[in-house]
Amino acid sequence: MHSLAEYIWIDGASPTKKLRSKARVIETGDGDVTLDAFPDWGFDGSSTWQAGGSDSDCTLRPVLFTPDPFRGEGNHLVLCEVLNSDGTPHESNTRARLRAVLDAGAADHDPWFGIEQEYTLFAGRDPFGWPKDGFPAPQGPFYCGVGADEVYGRPMIEAHTRRCIQAGIMIYGINAEVMPCQWEFQIGHRGFANESSDPVNISDHLWMARWLLYRTGEEYKISAKLHPKPVPGDWNGAGAHTNFSTREMRNPETGRAAIDAAIDRLSKKHDEHIAVYGADLDQRLTGLHETCHIGEFKSGVADRGASIRIPRDVAKAGYGYLEDRRPAANMDPYEVCARMLRTVLDIDA
Ligand code: ADP
Ligand code: MN
Ligand code: MN
Ligand code: MN
Repeated sequence: MHSLAEYIWIDGASPTKKLRSKARVIETGDGDVTLDAFPDWGFDGSSTWQAGGSDSDCTLRPVLFTPDPFRGEGNHLVLCEVLNSDGTPHESNTRARLRAVLDAGAADHDPWFGIEQEYTLFAGRDPFGWPKDGFPAPQGPFYCGVGADEVYGRPMIEAHTRRCIQAGIMIYGINAEVMPCQWEFQIGHRGFANESSDPVNISDHLWMARWLLYRTGEEYKISAKLHPKPVPGDWNGAGAHTNFSTREMRNPETGRAAIDAAIDRLSKKHDEHIAVYGADLDQRLTGLHETCHIGEFKSGVADRGASIRIPRDVAKAGYGYLEDRRPAANMDPYEVCARMLRTVLDIDA
């Protein structure tokens, strides 16, 4: 059978990498499709900030494929790593560096992640649904709101969520956010059978969910933006809270001690974490709008003004996971997960 495969990769734009994709026709046999059905492919790295013009060929190496909910039955989306022409990982390939951290010992601790992706809808240059010459009512009623005066853009969000489910993406949930036209979806541990919550898989799924979001937006003429402070002033910024646990943290015997030890280690590497938690993060971590100031490290149970929050249920049970509230919406999950594992598990890779 002939079908289309949309090859998706992450470019070399700085300071925030963007998604790219292009499609090719492939031939699949009669049996189940495996990763082998998708050959390596090339692209022009000089157009994606990944190569100079005189030696511009980079390689796309398929690493994950899903059904394509846009083209339907038989077609696929294919996430790729970017390699140099000699087969080594390209310097923009942060996924390869995360793999190295897992191989250096992090995998032995069975780490799980769950990432809350906040984002903001725009129509052209304006926040979607906002009055032409002015502002909506002050924040308050919009978070998890319902009703035409309180919810902006739901049809697109519903379409995106449906596509994530059709593609087998590990979407955990969705909610309208504090600022009108700001939304959140979570990608992460769900406790379902035959699913891996490991950081490579969760990060892959988050990048795919972002691609599905932008692609869905094309149909609604709405662009989703990941800037951490999309509207200046008294409006919430957009983050990517990163929930994290190891086997030790999930064990009722050792859980709370392992969580406290992790927080102690995180407190000593604050600047190293901030450095990879997304561009323009200082505009969001002001100490207002449910954040801790960028220059300070604080932890607490159920504290939404902390850098690290221990959820109330985790504190009650005495084991579970922690939430790092610092990452910006525009962060690279491969980098954030790698940094978290290096710090908490003391890994040098
Ligand atoms: P919040 O209350 O901060 O808004 P959400 O409900 O939006 O939290 O997101 C919770 C996230 O925590 C989900 O992404 C979920 O996958 C993740 N999660 C749940 N349990 C664990 C765990 N044991 N380890 C890591 N992540 C977890
Ligand atoms: Mn949330
Ligand atoms: Mn949120
Ligand atoms: Mn959260």
